[in-house]
Amino acid sequence: MSKRLLPLFLFVSLLLACNTLITPFTPPTSTPKPLSSVATSTPVPPPPVSQTEAPFNIGWDDRSLFRQNLTSSAQSILEGLSGASIYHIAFSIADPPTRVSGVEEVRYTNQETAVLTEVDFAVFSEILGGRFLINNVTLDNQPVTVTHQTGLMRLPLTTPLQPGDSVIIHVEFEVTVPALGGDFYYGIFGYNDGILSLAHAYPTILVYNEQGWNNQTPDLDGDPLFSDTSFYFVFVDAPADLVLVASGTEVDLSDAAGRHRVLYADGPARDFYLAASSSFVKQAETIGELTVNSYAPASLSQYAQSALKTAEAAIADFSRRYAPYPYTEFDIVPIITSAGGVEFPGLTSIAENVYNESDFLEIVVTHEVGHQWFYNLVGNATQDQPWLDESLAEFVTWQYYLDQHGTQEAQSYRDEMQSTWDMLNDENIPIGLPVSAYTSDGYVAIIYGRGPFFLLALRDQMGQETFDRFISNYTQRYEWAVATTADFKQGAEQTCACDLTPLFDEWVNP
Ligand SMILES: [Zn+2]
Repeated sequence: MSKRLLPLFLFVSLLLACNTLITPFTPPTSTPKPLSSVATSTPVPPPPVSQTEAPFNIGWDDRSLFRQNLTSSAQSILEGLSGASIYHIAFSIADPPTRVSGVEEVRYTNQETAVLTEVDFAVFSEILGGRFLINNVTLDNQPVTVTHQTGLMRLPLTTPLQPGDSVIIHVEFEVTVPALGGDFYYGIFGYNDGILSLAHAYPTILVYNEQGWNNQTPDLDGDPLFSDTSFYFVFVDAPADLVLVASGTEVDLSDAAGRHRVLYADGPARDFYLAASSSFVKQAETIGELTVNSYAPASLSQYAQSALKTAEAAIADFSRRYAPYPYTEFDIVPIITSAGGVEFPGLTSIAENVYNESDFLEIVVTHEVGHQWFYNLVGNATQDQPWLDESLAEFVTWQYYLDQHGTQEAQSYRDEMQSTWDMLNDENIPIGLPVSAYTSDGYVAIIYGRGPFFLLALRDQMGQETFDRFISNYTQRYEWAVATTADFKQGAEQTCACDLTPLFDEWVNP
């Protein structure tokens, strides 16, 4: 990595924060681009969604199609995760794609020890600048009246749900996609400059834990969604000129008159995400069981190729160090966003204006690839304990630089982490706080700047070999589950047979 002057470091570090709104430091380059003319035209309404075709005709327990989404060594997980939610979703997308009709059927199983009296869903499209209209909801084929408040849909259970029991919830909905871009949560839900970014477009079951339903309105300085590992069959019916990029693997294609009709199998995973544009050109490379696809407008093809190479190297590195990457596919896609990049299962979106910043592109792609381990594979309460995925994604980026480029480049990256922390004058604010406890710039400085230095301090204290063994054990112990700060500490102490309380008090604990 080339050396950069401090102001540029600041710019880079600020942008690095995936899902980190940069006010008041927003650099001029992240100003939303002008609307494309197509974005303001009246959309041709989406065609009706068939509720008898795939995925609605797939048996709830039929996981066979997910084998295509998983490497052979990861497929054994399909015999586990017995209570994981199974989503059957169909999206029909208008032309231009500013309106989406959706039907979702989800089988939800009570995996808790408590009896549940409701199931809570995130409907984040409406806190990200869109509109979400609920047309019809049924519970085990019976009409049910839900409570809908901004960003949240609460479904009362007529009969309390006992541990181990399941319900089938059916929701018909309409989503309006903002054609503004950038104004709401980095533009990750929007149609801007001919690129559709469809994050959080379906009702997503929230996590129930000892705090009850995690249904607080998210602080948009951090990642909004905290979700359990689930299985997704998603059928997408979209205008044929759109090149579709989605979580999971395409398992069926039935294109018809002017429309793409694709069925995706995405799982196990914590989310389903779709991006699309008529300008995307795909570059792909397959190594062993993994295919990495990098999509971009033709004008960015050389950068898309280097993003692909970075992703390949990072996936190989983290697979060796932490746990094997489970999927047969990884996609990289540019969107118009004020974040550097945003992670999703099996896929990352990268800010289009980062592509021609080669050093920074490598950092952002590596950070987002790191989230495949720390966010998707090992889940965490993204709002309550954001350091568990963000500080770790920063740390593993440093590890990548050390492994791929050597000590000098790792030191340059470490200098960038330091610059991020410097934004808050290296204040010793704990890294273990919820997103809402930080100011916007404090969140960036502490979680992205101070956080990885804690992991370096932990590595120093445990010794490199013990630390490496711990991170690998931790990843594999909690894969597809949710880990907490306490789990992390306990695992580290078990591995080193030492007391880490003083170190956690110094860096992590409030
Ligand atoms: Zn991140």
